[in-house]
Amino acid sequence: MAGLKLTFYGTRGSIPVPGPVTMRYGGNTACLEIKSEDGDWIVFDAGTGIRVLSDSLNLGQKHDIHIFISHPHWDHISGFPFFTPVFIPGNKITIYGPGTFEKTLEEIIRGQMTYSYFPVRTEELQADIQFKELKEESFTLGNFKIETTMLNHPVTCLGYKIFYKDTIFIYLGDNEPYYNVYDDDDSDINDIARDMNKRLTQFIKGADTLVTDAQYIPSEYNSHKGWGHSTTHDCVNLAINAGIKKLFFFHHDPQRSDNQLDFIVDHYRKKMKEKGFDLEIYAAMERETFDV
Ligand SMILES: [Zn+2]
Ligand SMILES: [Zn+2]
Repeated sequence: MAGLKLTFYGTRGSIPVPGPVTMRYGGNTACLEIKSEDGDWIVFDAGTGIRVLSDSLNLGQKHDIHIFISHPHWDHISGFPFFTPVFIPGNKITIYGPGTFEKTLEEIIRGQMTYSYFPVRTEELQADIQFKELKEESFTLGNFKIETTMLNHPVTCLGYKIFYKDTIFIYLGDNEPYYNVYDDDDSDINDIARDMNKRLTQFIKGADTLVTDAQYIPSEYNSHKGWGHSTTHDCVNLAINAGIKKLFFFHHDPQRSDNQLDFIVDHYRKKMKEKGFDLEIYAAMERETFDV
């Protein structure tokens, strides 16, 4: 397998939750990176974890940084104004991601740095900052081939598939499986929901590693249906159906303690062993690096 390293800098969904019960898996919101042995480097999402990432960089060196935003909810962009490389001349930062019905990607990122919200405007940032708005498409970046797909979330949200040599890595931003919102027996609607879910399974099929929103456990889902997030069961089933080798639960619910995450991972690992499925399961942990 090709050399690809995955590091998490923020693993939490919705809102940062620093505190004694989230110290191990982390309280910062969504941010992760993959790095290839050839030096290819992609950052996904710019939640508060991206500040942790910036602390890990040698800021005396110039960096060419590619940040892929899944969608513009706060927990995926609010760390950007605190990402130190943006203040340093000579750095080049390219931000990729979807726009929304209301705003372009550039308006969204710049919009959180306007006078009422933040003292520094993006015009005053010293790095060379470029924006590339994405839809469903496919393109190359160094040795990476990248494909995107639309996910089911209350705002336009993209999932990313990265090919590197013989390895495929998937990062799905926030996502809820499609369902019949009328909750009736309309077979056409049920078929559409099923087909849309199959489309996602097809997109990730055969990947080695899947990092995905696993905000809820099944008992929490009914009161959060339509909020745009998956359950741990959804993620395990998706991974099994797609033949994934390593699954990382990500976007942990703000209420989820370290001990609960240990329990959840342990539960599913035992289930996989019992049922004979060859799927490795982890909960994403802040500042941890994995070979993928
Ligand atoms: Zn989120
Ligand atoms: Zn979201």
